[in-house]
Amino acid sequence: MGREAGDMDTINPYEVAVSQVKKVGEALELSEGIIAFLTQPKRELTVNFPVRMDDGSFRMFTGYRVQHSNARGPCKGGVRYHPAVSLDEVRALSMWMTWKCATVGIPFGGAKGGVICNPKEMSKGELERLTRRFATEIEPIIGPYVDIPAPDVYTDAQVMAWIMDTYSHKVGQVTPASVTGKPIPLGGSEGREEATSRGLMYCVREAMRARRMEPTESSAVIQGFGNVGGNAARLLRDELGMKVIAVSDSSGGIYDPAGLDIRKVEAHKKATGSVKGFPGATDITNHELLELDCTVLVPAALEGAIDRNNADRIRATIVAEGANGPTLPEADGILFEKGIMLIPDILANAGGVTASYFEWVQDLQFYFWSVGEVNERLNNIMTAAFNRVHSRSAEKKVDMRTGAYLLAVREVVNAIEMRGIYP
Ligand code: NAD
Repeated sequence: MGREAGDMDTINPYEVAVSQVKKVGEALELSEGIIAFLTQPKRELTVNFPVRMDDGSFRMFTGYRVQHSNARGPCKGGVRYHPAVSLDEVRALSMWMTWKCATVGIPFGGAKGGVICNPKEMSKGELERLTRRFATEIEPIIGPYVDIPAPDVYTDAQVMAWIMDTYSHKVGQVTPASVTGKPIPLGGSEGREEATSRGLMYCVREAMRARRMEPTESSAVIQGFGNVGGNAARLLRDELGMKVIAVSDSSGGIYDPAGLDIRKVEAHKKATGSVKGFPGATDITNHELLELDCTVLVPAALEGAIDRNNADRIRATIVAEGANGPTLPEADGILFEKGIMLIPDILANAGGVTASYFEWVQDLQFYFWSVGEVNERLNNIMTAAFNRVHSRSAEKKVDMRTGAYLLAVREVVNAIEMRGIYP
């Protein structure tokens, strides 16, 4: 499950996140003090803990929970299980959550968590014990009004159910609002599972409207066929009528210029463990996939997929960042000069945290909405956010990432200034 996406093994994601804020801080004429405030996480917890393995031995694991900001509300962010998790990666991801929540205007700050592990090599029982012990270790700093975890890479609704159950035992109350992305019978929200991809699809729809392009005459290429990439492939096909010509996962990609049948690709991945070898399609590498001629490219795997080495060879008209941080700063400039519209992660994949916000609101009220209500509210929030960011970028003649940061950082700074520096 090693990383092959871009330069991220050599480039530190936290440094990327800090450089993005510094660039915008200068444009907003923020003081050195406030830039330092914005670039340092509020709280960081590292935990080392034992887990009993199936063979009777125990192994030590390291996990992190980082809370970047609670200026605009409780901290919010996913938990990642991956061998390459590091404190700097979690710091960067927590900071991106702060800007994401501000971009779409939901009342949360940013957090993120991670455990260094390889879930593909662990049994369900080992994963449950790892999750419950990690939840116990971070319990003192999480909670429905403090910090609310959610799924991220290689964690899912089952992992969230274990965290919710563990937290509820600790505090002696059933607390569904302590975690989002739960199974629906435990207080999960209708529509949450596909909300990140649905939000991305609404952004692509708006981007095509802005560029006067017709989705039914367009093609999409998707890197990463997990929660975000798999659902994005299906929704771009089913709801916008786009032709999905290539998808990939960590083992490689498949290409069919006539368009892939996404449900059959899903079934093939379920049966064989990978999209590779899909009948009728050509196997390609992840590098080749990124450089295909297409209308919309969706990087939906890990950080650093588009860097200075391949940015010049990207042939998409629109890049919609399903993953967090898939494009490195030096690549942003190259894509902008080529006239490619890049819909940044803090906007393009914000549908997930928006639906998490809906789940949290429903859990606090113990009153649940229909999938139609969820999708309509999501559409309203994502469409408005896309158009705010698009207008600000056009007005300032900057790329959409800079436009989104100008709006988001200003929102967070306003909240900090209104609350004042304590004491
Ligand atoms: P996931 O674990 O469901 O899927 C990840 C997919 O990426 C898998 O198909 C995996 O095989 C593939 N992959 C891994 N390494 C790859 C590589 N080098 N090249 C190509 N494919 C590779 O994870 P997910 O939840 O879909 O998350 C994907 C990205 O989206 C992450 O950056 C995550 O932070 C971001 N994100 C997720 C959500 C969400 O709601 N799940 C919300 C916002 C952002």
